[in-house]
Amino acid sequence: MASSSAASAAAAAVQIAQDAWTQFGAVLLSPNSAASLTSFAAALCLAAVLLLAGRARGRSTRLKVLLRALFPRRLLFNRSNRTDIAFFLFNTVVYGAIFGWAIVTQAVVSGWVLGGLEGAFGPGPDAVVGPVGALIIGTLVLFLAAELGHWIDHWLSHRVPFLWELHKVHHSAEVLSPLTSFRMHPLDGLKFANIIALAMGLADAGLTWLLGDPANAFTVYDRNVIALAALYTVQHLQHTHLWVVYPGPLGKLITSPAQHLIHHSTDPAHFGKNLGGLLNVCDRVFGTFHAPAARRERLVLGLGPEESRHDTVMEGLVMPVVRAFGTLRARPAPAAEGKVRA
Ligand SMILES: [Zn+2]
Ligand SMILES: [Zn+2]
Repeated sequence: MASSSAASAAAAAVQIAQDAWTQFGAVLLSPNSAASLTSFAAALCLAAVLLLAGRARGRSTRLKVLLRALFPRRLLFNRSNRTDIAFFLFNTVVYGAIFGWAIVTQAVVSGWVLGGLEGAFGPGPDAVVGPVGALIIGTLVLFLAAELGHWIDHWLSHRVPFLWELHKVHHSAEVLSPLTSFRMHPLDGLKFANIIALAMGLADAGLTWLLGDPANAFTVYDRNVIALAALYTVQHLQHTHLWVVYPGPLGKLITSPAQHLIHHSTDPAHFGKNLGGLLNVCDRVFGTFHAPAARRERLVLGLGPEESRHDTVMEGLVMPVVRAFGTLRARPAPAAEGKVRA
């Protein structure tokens, strides 16, 4: 009896391990995955091009020098990176299995809101654009809705003490690499996914009511084509040690690596700045934009010496929740209010 239950426990463990391995393979190999190897490779090529373009004339462009600039030793062996890797594995392999049920979908939100719109105003107006126009508008509006959702989520994370305790996990990184974007407390990730779904569901319902047909974005590999283009160009570079400021109109639109380094700085003047996702448009509109200097600024990244680390299961997953609920009980002393990054 005991041996048969041990055998079924072992079989279940093997099955879980196999499922996790399959999931990890899909995360790395699916071209539309936010952690696809192809998108990381594309980001690396772009980083190399940007480094070469930014090099002063006459300076060495040897491969060894380039590799050292892309992968400096002091960053490669930094313990902050190990925490990034642990969260990357947790959030790409385990997170969906535990929290997938708790994420509302864009289609569900859209259905609720569309029902409300039709109940209040009746059917939408006659379609004013053809199917191609509707597809172009849908692609753009749904992408911008996700950007607005990103900014709102991030603004709340820095403003609400409860949420800040969870978001601190991301800000405890002392060096940035593309894996830092996966360094997120699962409840912070859950809130983010739901706010994005709400924003996109609202946009979806508005578009469907106005344009007549279900709102659609032009997708490639099941991903909005604008988001996919960003994934293969600028998205992974947002978390990197490279001081890159995009020139001209690009810099006025797209969040550069330097802008996001400022977001992670411990300097109080930088707290709560540059909250946008792929675009810095919301930051410019809502007054949270902070322009980086053209040359590298001396920044210290992280939370400062008084804050806890997040490199154990207890500190990274359990204590942020305990501290978050602690903010509901404790009345913040005036001196402590500044710790909530505004
Ligand atoms: Zn933040
Ligand atoms: Zn970040």
